[in-house]
Amino acid sequence: MSRFLKTQLQSLEAYTPGEQPQDMQYIKLNTNESPFPPTPGVAAALADGEIRRLRLYPEPDCTPLRQALAQQYGVAAENVLIGNGSDEILNFCFMAFFAPEQKLLFPNITYGFYKVFADLYGLTYTEVPLRPDFSIDPADYRDKNAHVVLANPNAPTGIELPREEIESITRSNPDRIVIVDEAYIDFGGRSCAELIHTYKNLIVVMTFSKSRSLAGARVGFALADAALIRDLQTVKYSTNPYNINRLSQAAALAAVRDAAYDRKNCETIVQNRAYLAGQLQALGFTVLPSKANFVFAANEKIGGAALYAGLKKKGVLVRHFNRPPIENFVRITIGTKAQLDVLLHKIRELL
Ligand SMILES: *Cc1c(COP(=O)(O)O)cnc(C)c1O
Repeated sequence: MSRFLKTQLQSLEAYTPGEQPQDMQYIKLNTNESPFPPTPGVAAALADGEIRRLRLYPEPDCTPLRQALAQQYGVAAENVLIGNGSDEILNFCFMAFFAPEQKLLFPNITYGFYKVFADLYGLTYTEVPLRPDFSIDPADYRDKNAHVVLANPNAPTGIELPREEIESITRSNPDRIVIVDEAYIDFGGRSCAELIHTYKNLIVVMTFSKSRSLAGARVGFALADAALIRDLQTVKYSTNPYNINRLSQAAALAAVRDAAYDRKNCETIVQNRAYLAGQLQALGFTVLPSKANFVFAANEKIGGAALYAGLKKKGVLVRHFNRPPIENFVRITIGTKAQLDVLLHKIRELL
């Protein structure tokens, strides 16, 4: 740390992304990327003149992409904001709507970035404990006059909160914002997207990184009431108007135009998830009920840290969070059937 870093940031604990090692070829089941390449439409869209046009700034409003997403979700383009990954959307939301004197709630076990943004902006917040079965108790969030941030399905548990519960939380905090982070909604969960017509305080955040095979393109989006989207636009135009580069806009648009391709891949992942969960249970694992493209699993015979390290040595990367009460779990991204069979083979060797 230099002596110039401002006091407010000196104790900030930054987000730790999952490993992206370059030293060898791993079977990479640690950051919930898709095992499938993006639709062939993406390569075609990039080749089609977009490279020559890189000398020009991109369209700052991302209008074609917003229109395509609006059509897909049955909303208007004014209800859609595109971000440089959903992480940037979340950043904009925290910056725009949450003030230090207001209450802010999110689960104690959830996506690690919420806490980082809250600390970055000097917010006061409560990390609400999950139930012993790792599910969210909606009563903890109702009638609290608090901003609420929920990943649904939650990460790294994979457990879905029924949409009715999200709706009741949103309805009961009418003067505060509820953010539903639906990064994993396309793997069998029920989206809250259509609720944005009813609830002016609801922001649904989604991403191209998981179900659309475009983690490297960095594209996410928010669906919300037009007034909220305008506020987020103000923040965007006050920080980085050209936040989505040309290649990423073209790639994301091609993906939306071939939604059937992504849907089919999601179905395969849901099938592979059931296969992996069954096999792990047969090996004595506890596997939380996942609606995401990963499972969260623990085995009494081997701790989470040992399982993570043992698998890494054998060329398979999974994610381990070294903190109670989840230190005995590992989070395993659902890969192809062939990848999962290698993983299972290595796990059997370790056990
Ligand atoms: C992966 C993930 C994100 C970040 O997605 P990007 O669009 O790649 O920034 C956001 N929220 C949750 C819960 C995630 O798991």
